[in-house]
Amino acid sequence: MTARQSLHKICTLALQRRRQGLVQLMPQLEDTLRGSLMQRYLTCGNPNCKCAGGERHGPNWYFSVTLGPGATTGGTVAAEQRDRVRRWIENYHTVKQQMEKISAINRELPRRERKKIKRKK
Ligand SMILES: [Zn+2]
Repeated sequence: MTARQSLHKICTLALQRRRQGLVQLMPQLEDTLRGSLMQRYLTCGNPNCKCAGGERHGPNWYFSVTLGPGATTGGTVAAEQRDRVRRWIENYHTVKQQMEKISAINRELPRRERKKIKRKK
């Protein structure tokens, strides 16, 4: 079943309440971050270090985000920062998902209004 079909069967008041609920469950926008967190194992360049033999240093946490075609930026994330950065990234996805759900409702509600307007004419 598509989202549209499933919303179709829900009454307007319930849709409005659902939309309100989605807004209330929205993470704080200041705590959002687009990008991804990954673990990296690095070599330090010292030829006498164990990493030169394949036993790389790490894991180190690294944040990366694509800013445009061929444009990526990022940086190392300290272990102490990792959980917070991870939470911000999760929040970003949650906000996007919630906004998609709100958008689906906001496509459906005007459709119903149009039907009512047509009937009145
Ligand atoms: Zn090394």
